[in-house]
Amino acid sequence: MAKTVAVIGAGVSGLTSIKACLEEGLEPTCFEQSSDIGGLWRFTEKVEEDRASIYNSVVTNSSKEMSCFSDFPMPDDFPNFLHNSKFLQYLRMYAAHFELLKYIRFKTKVICLEKNQDSSVPGQWILVAERDGKQESFIFDAAMICTGHQIEAYVPLASFPGIEKFKGTYLHSRNYKSPERFHEKTVVIVGMGNSAADIAVEICRKAKKVILSTRGGSWVMSRVADNGYPWDTIFHSRFADVTRNYLPWLFLQWMTEQKMNQWFDHENYGLVPRNRSLMKEPVFNDDLPSRILCGAVTVKPIVQEFTETSAVFEDGTVEEKVDAVIFATGYSVAFPFLEKSVIKVEDNRVPLYKHVFPPQLEKPTLAVIGLIQPLGPIMPTSELQARWATRVFKELSTLPSESIMVADTVKRSKKRIKWFGTSRSQSIQTNFIEYLDELAASFGAKPNLLWLLLKDPKLALTMFFGPCTPFQFRLVGPGKWAGARDAILTQKERIIKPTKTRVVDSSSCHTIFTFLKILSVLALFAAVFLSLVQH
Ligand code: NAP
Repeated sequence: MAKTVAVIGAGVSGLTSIKACLEEGLEPTCFEQSSDIGGLWRFTEKVEEDRASIYNSVVTNSSKEMSCFSDFPMPDDFPNFLHNSKFLQYLRMYAAHFELLKYIRFKTKVICLEKNQDSSVPGQWILVAERDGKQESFIFDAAMICTGHQIEAYVPLASFPGIEKFKGTYLHSRNYKSPERFHEKTVVIVGMGNSAADIAVEICRKAKKVILSTRGGSWVMSRVADNGYPWDTIFHSRFADVTRNYLPWLFLQWMTEQKMNQWFDHENYGLVPRNRSLMKEPVFNDDLPSRILCGAVTVKPIVQEFTETSAVFEDGTVEEKVDAVIFATGYSVAFPFLEKSVIKVEDNRVPLYKHVFPPQLEKPTLAVIGLIQPLGPIMPTSELQARWATRVFKELSTLPSESIMVADTVKRSKKRIKWFGTSRSQSIQTNFIEYLDELAASFGAKPNLLWLLLKDPKLALTMFFGPCTPFQFRLVGPGKWAGARDAILTQKERIIKPTKTRVVDSSSCHTIFTFLKILSVLALFAAVFLSLVQH
């Protein structure tokens, strides 16, 4: 049975993996190449080699009640969508509260992770790490790779003939930090993911002209949903999920399209996805339609060719005097330190059992945490993956045979293509609640709603019709948290608190409005009565 665990990376997935190890009585040692925690969420002015890089303005696109860890709600005064610095603050609070920092070796880069062939204990790993130019070797019973999937920039230069002749500057969105350098410039942004849209709306306030060039288009959603609630607290309810799963496929596609076009007609804005029926990860951007409406951003099809100074688009139109091109074309999955034969990445697809375990290992002692793009937030997803993985390390949960695991990855991949399509950007995409339930069921943390309906109907109904918040996975099973019920029943208050910063005495207003309504109905009746009498 595993005892010592190497955790590689101290971002969202790394921190929750350390905690999951501690909960199971394992001994984690976390290796973090930089000098601080936070991973992707720790903004730096300079791009650091081998580390994810974000721009200054990044704000989460999943809300705080959905994105928190399951036994650590965010403070009620935190906004619903958090600036990266605020999210980092939350991660610092989490690390401090659960005393995780002492398990992290900072400025220590993992150079190599390979199977220990000499071991009399199968499943062990040799890890070589470097600090201050000195290498050290360790042996671990298990390892958790928590390095994410947004480090290696994907720049498909071969798809853009003429780019080598282009005399302006070009860069990947990973190298974009802030809009100042694009002052009065004509900028072409390639791609239609969240990075492309964010950068376009930010740059267009400084630049002379911004062209958003997309081959596949995308649905664009607002962070603000029905009645002003954060989008994911409405979209990710169990009720909505069951409805989506049981609706006939064609009807669901039609309904999705109607819903997406409710805010603005995507066809009229040139954004409509090429395959509009897919549930491909939408873009969350409240400003993009408005910027297009104001002429500050122009949407164009994909660039067919670059010349020294211009971009020629697929529809034959040409943009002259282009100063800069930003390739917001996504990332490639990579494990530079891992023994090659352990995980084979093909066309950005990673064949892992339930997105976590390589199926071919002699013993399941290697888990990849957070290498996934759920339709919902990554934080609770990584957390459940880590909780399950540590149970497997301890042999308290077992995995099926290799052939069953391989068959499962094939089946999962087919389902992914049906729902999200074949685009490279969707290669690790998955649905949300169904996946969380599946992970939780693997180690006994999935709540039983029918049983709860008898025992605690108020809680069961909130869980079914309200947002499927992470606390739902701390009600039963290993890692059960006594505060989970209360956290679920008070989540709505925490959502409303940061927006309801001006409180009006609504009772007197309501009374006046009700009185006025009654008065106008009476007046209407009187008018009808008088007109009938007069005739
Ligand atoms: P992405 O989601 O992978 O999108 C890449 C885009 O590039 C897609 O539109 C793709 O088009 C396009 N593309 C790729 N290869 C291309 C080619 N050869 N020619 C033309 N277009 C090409 O990358 P991202 O926007 O950087 O986002 C990465 C992840 O970070 C996502 O999960 C995203 O949600 C997340 N993110 C979050 C935030 C936030 O929380 N605020 C901000 C930014 C990013 P096709 O779709 O047609 O393939």
